[in-house]
Amino acid sequence: EKAPVITVDGPGGAGKGTLCQLLAEKLEWHLLDSGAIYRVLALAALHHNVALDDEAALVPLAAHLDVQFPVLNGQVKTILEGEDVSHTIRTEKMGNTASKVAAFPRVREALLRRQRAFRSTPGLIADGRDMGTVVFPDAQVKIFLDASAQERANRRLLQLQDKGFDVNFDRLLSEIQARDERDRNRTVAPLKAADDALVIDSTDLSITEVLDIVLNHTKVKV
Ligand code: C5P
Repeated sequence: EKAPVITVDGPGGAGKGTLCQLLAEKLEWHLLDSGAIYRVLALAALHHNVALDDEAALVPLAAHLDVQFPVLNGQVKTILEGEDVSHTIRTEKMGNTASKVAAFPRVREALLRRQRAFRSTPGLIADGRDMGTVVFPDAQVKIFLDASAQERANRRLLQLQDKGFDVNFDRLLSEIQARDERDRNRTVAPLKAADDALVIDSTDLSITEVLDIVLNHTKVKV
């Protein structure tokens, strides 16, 4: 039988990344950071001079993307064509670029199998925008994690500063809003909660509170 999956979808900065890391540690399950795949694809397009609006050229690039996610000292690294790009793909600019290439249906199609391959025993935590709606529609547990745009920009600011990036709050807020808009309004796999997802608004919740809600919900389901 197929391994169990917990999907965590939602807009940028809602706390999905941290929640998924904690869940994966706690349950000792595998982790899929699908956003990292789209970010890596965006970076590969820049490296190979593929225009971000050239769907026909982006599709083979996505299909043959040479990306690995090895764990080093307990941290997941992102390796593109042998190069450690873990830091490079984290900028808001790269998130924005990722959301442009992610809007193409055939690009998403080319990455489907690769994402589904992460599903293995004892289970998978899948972090993204369409994990519960498209990639793992049969997931045992689906979470949609949301928060106000202000709060998400705030969290992103702290996160990026922590990683050593120089960021401006107002610019970050407008970038986050523009990216959400694009993710919510695209024709294929738009950002939205699956019908059977538990929606959690984390605006006024700590990460531990969110983790508790998800673990309690999971106990009933898995
Ligand atoms: O989650 P993260 O900020 O790393 O995602 C970057 C971008 O990749 C998102 O804004 C979205 O456009 C795209 N993405 C997606 N589907 C996913 C994960 C990410 O379209 N499952």
